[in-house]
Amino acid sequence: MSTHPNHTTSIFNTFKRAPLSFERGEGVRLFTDDGHEYLDFGAGIAVNSLGHAHPHLVEALTAQASRLWHVSNLYQIPDQEKLGQRLCDNTFADKVFFTNSGAEAMECAIKTARRYHFHNGNPEKIDILTFEGAFHGRTLATIAAGGQEKYLEGFGPKTQGFVQLPFGDADAVKNAINEQTAAILIEPVQGEGGVVPASSGFLKFLRNICDQHGLLLIYDEIQTGVGRTGKFFAYQWSGAAPDIMAIAKGIGGGFPIGACLATKEAAEGMVLGTHGTTFGGNPLAMAVGNAVLDVVLEEGFLEQVQQTALYLRQQLAELADAFPQLIENVRGEGMLLGLKCRASNLDVVDAFRDAGVLSIPAGDNVVRLLPPLVVTIEDIREANNKMHQALGKLSQKTNDGEKK
Ligand SMILES: *Cc1c(COP(=O)(O)O)cnc(C)c1O
Repeated sequence: MSTHPNHTTSIFNTFKRAPLSFERGEGVRLFTDDGHEYLDFGAGIAVNSLGHAHPHLVEALTAQASRLWHVSNLYQIPDQEKLGQRLCDNTFADKVFFTNSGAEAMECAIKTARRYHFHNGNPEKIDILTFEGAFHGRTLATIAAGGQEKYLEGFGPKTQGFVQLPFGDADAVKNAINEQTAAILIEPVQGEGGVVPASSGFLKFLRNICDQHGLLLIYDEIQTGVGRTGKFFAYQWSGAAPDIMAIAKGIGGGFPIGACLATKEAAEGMVLGTHGTTFGGNPLAMAVGNAVLDVVLEEGFLEQVQQTALYLRQQLAELADAFPQLIENVRGEGMLLGLKCRASNLDVVDAFRDAGVLSIPAGDNVVRLLPPLVVTIEDIREANNKMHQALGKLSQKTNDGEKK
């Protein structure tokens, strides 16, 4: 097993890395360089939507790689037009701007909202209402949008224009709106914050109040999008469509792609020269993005995801029932599921990993399970057996600890 203590490498020490190095992946499985096999129920943090080395994605990427990689946005990119159109055809949106990451997609969403009001003669409208527990990225603007002290500390003055409110609190939203308010920004299911879904009722309330006050509704579907919750986008469960939406993670299936989607009206201010990107929407990325949509938008694919996700949820509920001293409950939507822990979530993640299942910690002492959307019932059974063993051992340890 190759272990690389952080402090001895040339890489910034900003990540705590597990002592595992993967050499190869296939579907839901990852293989280490020393031959161990893992069920990847973290999917690279909701990124590997179609698992590892999906043949259709490999084919699309390699075919494109031998033709053309990059030309810049100074030229026509037909596959960018195509992917943009497909995203519009299947959502509320009319316009798309492609980026390389989630935070960049969020930056574009924030700029688009402010610029809309500027364009309409209201340059004072710059404030965006956001919610406690949110995560929107790690740029200077998006850490301000997320509002979490641990991400803001030491990085100078907090970027202005973000007002944070309790998650799901309609009265707080009503009271916070004033002449400076430009938009409301929310994740339909908070991911990093601990797998916390907003109710359909709350999203509908936000839609209505935005309409009443001429505000733009922005969704961050970077984690929830592209089939993760069993719909193409999570907001489609509620019927409350946004004006602007940031996406990333799953749309690239492992290739770095993000995008900001908007209605024609919301995108009005983003005229020639107002925004740009060197890499965003390049031919390699667009070939992969289109290939991901070939699969995700195929007839019956999302229905299959919904059914498999239901099975995973039932299995997790049984797991929680079997170990009430370690797990409090199961929450989430589709294949964005969280185990709210009584034990330390980090201990549970480690125990699962030792048993051969990869999962991801989140806020509020939650363990996230977000397998590739192509996971099968058999994979879930196997993972569930391993997670059972892991929690059995962990509860043994906890008991031994208490006896001492
Ligand atoms: C991951 C994530 C981001 C940030 O995306 P990056 O690609 O890491 O910049 C923003 N918002 C949400 C909801 C996310 O899950």
